[in-house]
Amino acid sequence: MLTIHDSEARWRTFFEETCANEISSLAASWPERISFPVDFARIQAWNVSFAELLLNNPRDTISKSNIILATICRESGYEADPRIRIIGLPPDSIRKLRDISSEEVELFITSEVIVTKISELKPRIYNGIFTCTTCGNTIEITQPNELELIEPSECPDTGGCGRRTSGGGSTRFDLRMESSTMIDNQWIEVQELPENVKPGSQPVRLSVLAEAELAGKHVPGERIRINGIPYVRTLKRGGMKTPMFDVYISLHSSERKNIPLEEIEITPSELAEIEKISQRDDLEELFLRSIAPSIIASDEKMRFIKKSLVFQLLGGVARKYPDGTRTRGDIHILLLGDPGVAKSQLLSFMGRISPRGRFTTGGGTSAAGLTAAAVRDSFNDGRFSLEAGALVLADQGLCAVDEFDKMSSEDRGAMHEAMEQQQININKGGISATMPTRCAVLAAANPKTDNGRFSPIDWSDSRTFLHNQIKLSAPLISRFDIVWMIQDMVDKGRDQRIAEHIVRVKRTGVPEHLIDSGHTVPPESLLKDHIFSTDVDGNEVLTPDFFQKYVAHAKRLFHPECDDATMEILVNHYTAKREEMAKDEYSVSLTARAIEATMRMAEARSRLFLRNHVVAEDAKEAIAMDGLWRYLAYDGNMNPQDPTGTPQKARSAEKTIGAIVRTLCRERDGECHVNEIYNSAGEQGFDEDTVDRVLQSMSNRGVLYSPRIGLWRYA
Ligand code: ADP
Ligand code: MG
Repeated sequence: MLTIHDSEARWRTFFEETCANEISSLAASWPERISFPVDFARIQAWNVSFAELLLNNPRDTISKSNIILATICRESGYEADPRIRIIGLPPDSIRKLRDISSEEVELFITSEVIVTKISELKPRIYNGIFTCTTCGNTIEITQPNELELIEPSECPDTGGCGRRTSGGGSTRFDLRMESSTMIDNQWIEVQELPENVKPGSQPVRLSVLAEAELAGKHVPGERIRINGIPYVRTLKRGGMKTPMFDVYISLHSSERKNIPLEEIEITPSELAEIEKISQRDDLEELFLRSIAPSIIASDEKMRFIKKSLVFQLLGGVARKYPDGTRTRGDIHILLLGDPGVAKSQLLSFMGRISPRGRFTTGGGTSAAGLTAAAVRDSFNDGRFSLEAGALVLADQGLCAVDEFDKMSSEDRGAMHEAMEQQQININKGGISATMPTRCAVLAAANPKTDNGRFSPIDWSDSRTFLHNQIKLSAPLISRFDIVWMIQDMVDKGRDQRIAEHIVRVKRTGVPEHLIDSGHTVPPESLLKDHIFSTDVDGNEVLTPDFFQKYVAHAKRLFHPECDDATMEILVNHYTAKREEMAKDEYSVSLTARAIEATMRMAEARSRLFLRNHVVAEDAKEAIAMDGLWRYLAYDGNMNPQDPTGTPQKARSAEKTIGAIVRTLCRERDGECHVNEIYNSAGEQGFDEDTVDRVLQSMSNRGVLYSPRIGLWRYA
């Protein structure tokens, strides 16, 4: 039986026999390099029972290895204090966070987690140097514990005065900060990977203590494998110790998971099936049908919506450029609609089916909301910490946000960057971090009108403009590649189709109480490992599981590019559109965003066919989709190129009235009276109501402001 006492000698032999060269090169580059990574398999291959000891008694064994490492460095002439970081723990050390109990305490375990929160860094004493106030003798004490400082209780007889800190003739000790060694530490909150959490249950979270070079290494949203040692601390209540314990993990090392979507495993036979499906003539139709089969595509519009959701799942290709910039590949979609048109149902389906998908609501309960938040003292030790919101946690996946318009003002501010640059920078309370938000956003919002419904857009009434009917700013709306307007209009044929469909779908459902009472199994569990199932009409659809595998495969392996011919189709389309616009002096220019959006859709479509190059058909379909949503959103009445939804005639009124205000302001020292505007505008055929509406709309958007009633100024 090996014991701890042997471990110093064992480490020395291990280091000398297997990695002497690595250690000397590490020693030479210390302190730039601190960690010394060692694969567990290497230790195991060298000596099985020593590897065993390491797993069962990690804290002592590891601290011995660090002592030996420093000794070896010193022996070869370097003052270095590297830290061993053992990685690649064996499968029987894998634990889910929810399974970590008193049995695991002080064992070496490994777990796959997502980082949800980090605290600011704080230094702590790692090696305390104390001097005896009586005789001046110095004493060194290693400080293993972040909660209390261990002080000497007596001065040794040899070399010191032999006095104690209590009793007669006692002494005191001073901590010598300047000679003590400090290390950084940081609290990290980790959470089980969402895909390992059963639907409906809350993911388990644990606090992890990261020290030295591991502090500051991770940001919220990262998926990592942590190798660490669970430990317990007594729970204090009102300053008193209680018999209750809290479990924490002391982080020993961490490994980044860097294969995209690696959690989705595809077997060779599934791969063969994926390839077979990709050759089907009805591929697009099959995918379209497989998006939320319980929601009927009652009209062409719903079919296009579902098709756009297929594009969104697959996404375009994110690219980086030599100048350091990046364009996103994710396609953002906004569903604006009357209540009861199945927006929430679509979102929840998409959150479930997408790899790394999430479903959340804009006004959600988490402090971090959609983006991120810096909060004080969530680890109970007075530090600031940074918590990841839904978009960060959905990195590389899809974030479905219901009630998008109800998001907090902090989220509103951070959302532009989160959606376009796909990252969030936070610099607050001693923490600065950049968190990635590389996810597709599928958002839904209801109108803010009094009756909760959209009014048909009427260009003579600015209240009906898109951005005036929802609580979202025009710049935020413009971040979406596609905006679907879904109105709940009475249409007898369509209503009947929906009604029949709902009734039929209901009849295929299994009563929940039979599942809960164990009389029957949940219907989705029957589909596990199946490729196809059928919708209510008896058509073949992909099961959610298989759908997800197809998407993961397509996203992982295919990064389509445009060739010259397809490029030309896209470019010609836009130059033609722009020329059309140039003829109309009131049109706004078509932004580069729209071009990028079409490219993303074309790339997504070619991924569907498992192709690495965009073909003409992809480009045409993308252009059609782009044209269609713009046309539908503005009901054909509006300038389809203007994503802000200000119609052409209103724009023309705004242009004219804006010009009048500008001229008047120039003549009148920067401000002008509304009566003067009425007069000038009247000459050009605009009545006072129109002038009022335009002024109001311009001031809502911050173009104009009114310093006093009746006076207007350019902002
Ligand atoms: P929203 O979020 O748009 O207010 P919901 O997603 O909550 O609407 O949908 C309301 C209900 O109406 C749901 O039970 C949904 O299944 C049903 N429904 C609405 N439209 C359809 C449709 N086209 N097909 C099937 N069910 C529908
Ligand atoms: Mg809803």
